Amino acid sequence: MAQRNTWQRERVREALADAQGFVSAQSLHATLRDENTGIGLATVYRALSGLAAQGEADSLQSPDGEALYRACTSTGHHHHLICRSCGLTVEIAATDVEQWARQTAASHGFTQAEHVVDIFGLCATCTAARNLERDAD
Ligand SMILES: [Zn+2]
Ligand SMILES: [Zn+2]
Ligand SMILES: [Zn+2]
Repeated sequence: MAQRNTWQRERVREALADAQGFVSAQSLHATLRDENTGIGLATVYRALSGLAAQGEADSLQSPDGEALYRACTSTGHHHHLICRSCGLTVEIAATDVEQWARQTAASHGFTQAEHVVDIFGLCATCTAARNLERDAD
């Protein structure tokens, strides 16, 4: 049983690494289903939260409140720019944010402060495509 779980988890890890941007458990499950792996949605949820807890995957909430996951190349603390149309994800350092967060926390007497800052928008390609569409109307 334990071995089987390890195999499934490994498969989820691979699928996550193959994904282009942040993905939900449901869309990853759909990919695995297409490949006839027989891995259930509950297993995908468990594997993803396990990978996130161990720092092997980044997780965040979409503006819709959905939990999204990605196997990022950066292992240290970083932020993301995410295209809400195509899912393109850029890992960014945000030195200003780090300083602002630390100072704001300190000025209220907070220690061990953590923060989550991710920017959702339309990438350059999607913006250009949208402008083309608008011009065509
Ligand atoms: Zn990341
Ligand atoms: Zn895009
Ligand atoms: Zn930060």
